[in-house]
Amino acid sequence: MITERALALGKKRSTIREIFEYSMRRKREIGEENVFDFSLGNPSVPSPQAVTDCLKELIENETTVALHGYTSAAGAMAVREKIAKKTYNRFDFKANPELIYMTCGAAASLSCTLSAIAGEKDEVLVLSPYFPEYRVFIENAGATVVEVPTKRDTFTLDIEKIKNATNKKTRAIIINSPCNPTGVVYSEDDIIALSDLLKEKREQYGTHITVIADEPYREIVYGDVFVPYIPNYYDDTVVCYSYSKSLSIPGERIGYIMVSPQMQYAEDVFYAVCGAARSMGYVCAPSMWQRVVAECDGIAPNIEAYNENRTLLYNALTEIGFTAVKPEGAFYLFLKSPMPDAKEFCEKAKEYELLLVPSDDFGCGGYVRIAYCVEKSVIERAIPAFRELYKEIKNG
Ligand code: PLP
Repeated sequence: MITERALALGKKRSTIREIFEYSMRRKREIGEENVFDFSLGNPSVPSPQAVTDCLKELIENETTVALHGYTSAAGAMAVREKIAKKTYNRFDFKANPELIYMTCGAAASLSCTLSAIAGEKDEVLVLSPYFPEYRVFIENAGATVVEVPTKRDTFTLDIEKIKNATNKKTRAIIINSPCNPTGVVYSEDDIIALSDLLKEKREQYGTHITVIADEPYREIVYGDVFVPYIPNYYDDTVVCYSYSKSLSIPGERIGYIMVSPQMQYAEDVFYAVCGAARSMGYVCAPSMWQRVVAECDGIAPNIEAYNENRTLLYNALTEIGFTAVKPEGAFYLFLKSPMPDAKEFCEKAKEYELLLVPSDDFGCGGYVRIAYCVEKSVIERAIPAFRELYKEIKNG
């Protein structure tokens, strides 16, 4: 009657979602202002003005069919052309609009891409700690997840470990920079070293290894940190982009897949993406939002608001005694758990109404993720609770 796999997936909610649900219940019980919910990566800064202006303009001036009608399955060609043009202007990379597929956010981009390129007997490398949904998408494609730890002191790429994990069956590696959950941005040197390694392995095994560049946080970086555009370094790349975070529109479900024209058999890869998307029902991404993102592609959110939160939280927590790598991008702080078991620590934090996500589901124990995409006042009110929590743990 029902498939066991789907049942198991549906029954076991993601830890992040569980905590978020708990937060809603708890807020009803004791008042919103008394719960410090750092669980979900829901952008807190308003969408850039350009998004609102564009929506208004479209609603006032477009016909129903132009605005709400079906586009072609891969998205409106005019939209894909604009995105390709902006990609060239921003990254000096010649994307081909014929190889861009509009999707419902990065989740759909990743699941379509993985189902298009990986299957049974294939292995997909993920760098731990990693976004937990990768496992769902990879396994849904029938492939096997291979976890490769990043360096434990910096969470940067451990090229030696990637080398040791790569074999004949390696079909792809997912690179997420800026990274959820660590906030780390992989340096140009690291991306070059990775690219050299993958080229060498490809030669050695006579196979294709695709880099899947999962980039929902591309625009969210602090200071003058440089985020290398991976297709400029490695030809066999598929970019999975989402506007959820950059334009603060995660509920609108819009993003795209860009198959690099430099990729071997690029056209066939694109057709496979079309086929995978079709079989999963991801055709014709929301048409009004296609139009909006075509105009607003490349616009960054109010980074200063996130930066203030980052500085306030990082400084306060390290001053209290916690340890963390200072994030360079995204809006997450990956904190070392002061207790050996991060889940136990999160349960203790709950007693102080601090809702944190244990790192176990990210493929790496002993840490917690704090999503600081919240109002600054939430962080200000939470700091005394963190202080008390730390004191209790250290004093036993
Ligand atoms: N990839 C990473 C690393 C994410 O953090 C997220 C969402 O938080 C996604 C993909 C999915 O993004 P979307 O909401 O665009 O589907």
